[in-house]
Parts: sequence; structure tokens; C-alpha cells
Amino acid sequence: MIVTSQLFDIHDRCPRRLALERTHEPLTISATGLLYAGIEGGIIGADPCVSALDSIRAITSRFDVQSGDLAPISVVRHVGFMAEVISLALIRKFGRFSRIANTVFGSHEWQSNLFERKNGDLHRIFLVSYLDDDSLRSFAHSWGTVGELAALERDVTLTAVVIGAQRAGRRHSHWSRCFQHPVQKSALRFASRKRDDGFTKGWREVWREMTDISAATWLDKMGTDDVLPDLIQSRRVPYRPDDYRMVKAREDMFKIIPQMESASIDDPMRRSSCDEVGRGACVWQRLCWSPTPVELDDLDYLFRERATE
Ligand code: SF4
Repeated sequence: MIVTSQLFDIHDRCPRRLALERTHEPLTISATGLLYAGIEGGIIGADPCVSALDSIRAITSRFDVQSGDLAPISVVRHVGFMAEVISLALIRKFGRFSRIANTVFGSHEWQSNLFERKNGDLHRIFLVSYLDDDSLRSFAHSWGTVGELAALERDVTLTAVVIGAQRAGRRHSHWSRCFQHPVQKSALRFASRKRDDGFTKGWREVWREMTDISAATWLDKMGTDDVLPDLIQSRRVPYRPDDYRMVKAREDMFKIIPQMESASIDDPMRRSSCDEVGRGACVWQRLCWSPTPVELDDLDYLFRERATE
């Protein structure tokens, strides 16, 4: 079996969901899921901006985007522009990344979700609305970190990208929005500078997707206003083979794998996972929460069978 940290996470939350996702996939993707795909493509591709947009194009050719308050085209454009700047910022800070090859994990194969820098450091890149000690601890203790540490037996660096709160269909953060001088359009500001505090009420709020400002120029100006250190933060989590937490995690993982293999769509619902704060509604609610009995085949306008490799 090919195992990933994501499978452990889904199984923890709801075995029934794991069983559903083994055979079927939703026809839609969230804006955040699309942003992840764009950034992942951007940081491993030949050109961060072009590769980010290519990845987004590839995903939107297969999935409809959940667009909420905005038209789908506006969401795709907003996400694409953010993915360009964030990918470029990550590449400038860390250099190009690559995916790592599958490794042996007991009698199974481990497929990592981490990205490797040229110097061999492994990064788990995650997007958060904001970053505090609680959210950092939660990421550090999740399968996405512990599972990778235990399976790969290597240090992992957690790299958080703060993308701001989502309101009215857009992410409100410096990646996407700034203030533009009322006359001199090339003058952009993200934060007040002590030396030259020239902000007045005349500066107009703009979204990058509504301008023709390139990702490189936008990022340069973010650097000038010194807002980047708060938006990309990293913590290294060392792997120690004698650490009992690692020994126990490996033990647990080998116990859980057979449980994952036997997960079934008839398993009891895990209701606390149906609407998790911060993760939103589970995509399978139309099946599990239907007031009348419903089969997967009745929901072919929402889900399709996964292509077998
Ligand atoms: S809707 Fe709830 S019970 Fe159904 S798969 Fe999702 S988390 Fe599990």
C-alpha cells in the first residue's frame, strides 16, 4: 500500500471519509486547495510564476472551483495572482524545491508531501490565515509532521505562509492587496515606513489582480516595506531516533495501516469531523447528511470515480 501522512490524517478524522476518497473524488476544489496546487507547482517548476499559473490551469480543467461570493473566474484570477507572488517569495527565500522519491515504510511505500531544498532540508509548507503558538503546535503535532518525521527519519522544517483571512471570496493580505499612490501608480505601500511616512487618505486600496503590476515588482515593494518576515516563518523540527515519541508514532502507524485498509463507507459517521472549525464543511455531507437514503451513484453531479492508475 502507498501511505501518506494525509491518509493518516483523514483516517483520524473519519474512516468513512477515507473509504469514500479511496474510490471517488469531488468534482469541485476549494479556493485554498487551488492555491496550494498553484504554489506547489510554482516552487518545483522551472519558472515560479509561469509554473504556478500552469498548475492552476491544469487543476481548473479538471475541477470546478468553489467560489462562494465571487464569480468562479474572479476566484481563479485572485488565487492565480497570489500563487505567483507566494511561489516567487518562497523561491527567493529558499531556492527551488523538488518532490522526494517514495521510500520503503515496513512492507509499504511512503509517499511524502514534503518539499526538498537543494541543501537537503525538507520543508512542510502550509498556508494559514494567521500564525500563533496554538496553530504552530497543532501543525507540529499533526500527522503531516509526525508521520513524515517517523517515516523518513529526517528533520522537517515547518514553513508557514500567512495568507490572511478569507472575506467575500478573497484573501486579505499583503500578498494580494496594497495601497497605491493616487497619481504615481508605480508607488505601492504595504506598511508605514519610519523614514518616509507619507501615507495619506488619498492612497487607494488595490488588489493586484486588478492592476498590471508584475509579481516581481509587487514582491520587491513588499520587501521594501519589510512585511515579508511576518508572512513566511519557519521552525525546524529535529528527528531523534531515540525519542520515544518517534518510536511510538512508528508503532502506532503500523497498527493503524490495517485499520485504514479495512475502512468502509458503512463505518459510523464521525460527526465532530463533519464541520471542523478552520477546515470548513466535509465535502461528503450531501451523502452522509441527506434526509433520505442516497447512494453515491445518485450524486454523480458532485463526485466521480477516481481514475485507476
Ligand atoms: S460528512 Fe462527516 S461522516 Fe460523512 S464523511 Fe464527512 S466527516 Fe465523515
